[in-house]
Amino acid sequence: MATWTIGAVNVTRVEEQIGFASFPPEQYLAGFERELLQRHLPWLVPHHYSPEHDRLVTSVHSWLIRTDRHMILLDCCGGNHKERPGLARFHQRDTPYLARLREAGAAPEDIDIVLCTHLHADHVGWNTMLRDGRWIPTFPNAKYLFSRSEDEYGDPRRNPAADADPQRGCAYRDSVLPVIEAGQAVLLDGTHAIDDAMFVEPAPGHTPGHVILKLQDRGERALFCGDALHHPLQVYAPHWNSRFCELPAQALLTRRRVLEHCAEHSALLFPVHFGAPHVGAITRAGDTFSIRFVPGRES
Ligand SMILES: [Zn+2]
Repeated sequence: MATWTIGAVNVTRVEEQIGFASFPPEQYLAGFERELLQRHLPWLVPHHYSPEHDRLVTSVHSWLIRTDRHMILLDCCGGNHKERPGLARFHQRDTPYLARLREAGAAPEDIDIVLCTHLHADHVGWNTMLRDGRWIPTFPNAKYLFSRSEDEYGDPRRNPAADADPQRGCAYRDSVLPVIEAGQAVLLDGTHAIDDAMFVEPAPGHTPGHVILKLQDRGERALFCGDALHHPLQVYAPHWNSRFCELPAQALLTRRRVLEHCAEHSALLFPVHFGAPHVGAITRAGDTFSIRFVPGRES
């Protein structure tokens, strides 16, 4: 288990799963150029690409962010026992995620804020768990922060198209709605300050209401980018979207803005799907960017 320190804030990665993307690179990344993959092959194998399977390697994890005031869980992976027809990687899983969270230092009741960057199935799963046949909030003492526009877009009662999307309809019903009904959801408009070190900001594109989290403490910075980037090759090719980006033109702009922020302010980039070592420092490289991975402290 790896931990990074930003100022006085500790950030620990809580893994749910790591493995091969469900699609070959051409289908996973729109605009994918194999020549770029070949050029970066030496550092992509084995943690980011498997030549043997011709699949990108992707992680699904949460970030546990501990300050002296808050214990925040950013993004909630796929969850256990969720019915996800059409999403093999997330269908009826049974992973020891909560045991890993405890190992990282947090019991479910210790979490006071859950932040979902967006409401796709692989970011809301652990919002809830199955108890006596019902979905109940996993984190009984937490406020769950969702963007209001994302909530409107993801709710199949208000947006019937969400039901046809395997990432959304059932995920909303079993992993978002029970939180709202329990009175634990807080819907965000625009920028939201969690405290004077952490800001949630709109970053639309991957989804209409997608948000990112910026952290700054004692002169050090981090940016939690959710799915603004899926794979480290997109640092070198910010013009590639993932197949899951719902507003492609906006996703390109947001990705570039995120990378520019990291490069300009020396903010460490904390994505949700990058393989080991998961976190990187971004620098400008001509028209695009480059990444230097920054491993956490293992414990
Ligand atoms: Zn995702």
